Amino acid sequence: MRKTLCGLGIFLVFFLGIFSVAVQAAADPSIQLLINGSKVKPEVPLQLVNGRTLVPVYTIQEGLGIKVSWDGKNRKVTVVDGSKKIELTIGSKTARVNGTQKKLDVAPVIIGNRTFLPFRAIGELLGAEVDWENKTRSVILNKTVTPPPPKKPETPQTVKVTSIQQNDQVISIQISGKTEAKSFTMSEPNRIVVDVQNATLATASSAVPGQGTHPAIQNVRFSQFEPDVVRVVVELAGSAKYDLVQSASKVELKLKDIQSPEPSVPPVTNPPVVTEPVEKPPIVAPGNGTTQQPNPTPTTDPLSLKDRVRIVVDAGHGGKDMGATGNNAREKDLTLGIAQRLANNMMADPKLEVIMTRDSELDRQLTERGVKQELSEKVNIANNNNADLFISIHINSSTSASGKGTETYYHNDKSKGYASTIHKHLVQATGFPDRKIKQANFQVIKYTKMPAILIEVGFISNPAEAKEMLTPEFQQRVADAVYAGLKEYIENN
Ligand SMILES: [Zn+2]
Repeated sequence: MRKTLCGLGIFLVFFLGIFSVAVQAAADPSIQLLINGSKVKPEVPLQLVNGRTLVPVYTIQEGLGIKVSWDGKNRKVTVVDGSKKIELTIGSKTARVNGTQKKLDVAPVIIGNRTFLPFRAIGELLGAEVDWENKTRSVILNKTVTPPPPKKPETPQTVKVTSIQQNDQVISIQISGKTEAKSFTMSEPNRIVVDVQNATLATASSAVPGQGTHPAIQNVRFSQFEPDVVRVVVELAGSAKYDLVQSASKVELKLKDIQSPEPSVPPVTNPPVVTEPVEKPPIVAPGNGTTQQPNPTPTTDPLSLKDRVRIVVDAGHGGKDMGATGNNAREKDLTLGIAQRLANNMMADPKLEVIMTRDSELDRQLTERGVKQELSEKVNIANNNNADLFISIHINSSTSASGKGTETYYHNDKSKGYASTIHKHLVQATGFPDRKIKQANFQVIKYTKMPAILIEVGFISNPAEAKEMLTPEFQQRVADAVYAGLKEYIENN
């Protein structure tokens, strides 16, 4: 902290050794006041009383920027400087500093209708340096300006965090009132952290509805990180930028510029089948013994001219990774139900060969692995087996029960026609609103080398759509539609 000229300065006290002889109060116009290096002219001359300099209360108030109040009835002067309160009584050599008694050399006096205070004493009580320079006959007072007393931080209103939800690439944090949220990122794995300030958790459960609805978001979790901070951690599969949008009812984290990660597992040259014995070999079409010896050089023949077209069918999620849940349904079950029916159709077709990334609830090498690794494995299964086509089956979810419809994602242009063809059949089969085909960076459709799509059949968060999707009839209808779409696409490519 630096010394500052306190506005009009400060003031003084002091005592002059040279006037050690007792005298009556006497005005001495020759005495100057220097406060923090600036000359201050008092409106009336300073007084000397018994060798002590007294200064008019008015000068104190003006010069020091302190607050002086006068209680005429009790003849009391109160000086307030920051958190310090000095009480003086005319004619009394006892002062009170924050309630504690202090002795003064000289009592405050009233001279000619003005109240004079003993400056050295007051100065010292205020923590100032007081000095006398004989050559210039100056009372010098230097005082570091006391910062205003720390305002008691207004106890900020604590808000409640009532829910955390994911809707596609938006994380919504519902709050009961306006508060500040801070965000930052962390790496390995890439995370976005949102700290909601002055907040306490008041969520009904630890679940994050809609979790798993966007492949770029690996995991969303939250906690009462500090007594007044609720922390939400969004773990990314790759990397993303984001906007943090705050209002009185929610804080929204909106991902943008989503980048899928490089596959975390370097592509292996061998087929992805694990070295340990597996209970079930990958499901393959009749006539094809195994995926152990994939076609090493994928032909570039048009699909329509191929004897057999190899298709990887990915039932989204699985094992620990439930995908989205809601309305008594789990995404991983619905995707598996559709994928198995689709595989059955394909296996009956001698022109098609199917490889499933999983064919049961807990399965093969994907079991118990992290989602990120699992996604890479799915990519590897498709790439290492030189699949001709890839399809990933998912179920959508929204924070709103009214979200509904069918959509199909593709990444690169070579997959766009494939997406259109499958989507045309799919949307007809579901009977749900047409949310069209969309481009996205999802890992499983970005890093697969063949035309690849990801279908979102319907919304698990929508009671009517969930109810339908749970039925075997619906799942078979969707499987049949995708199969028909595959046949049409192969015929024309
Ligand atoms: Zn999914």
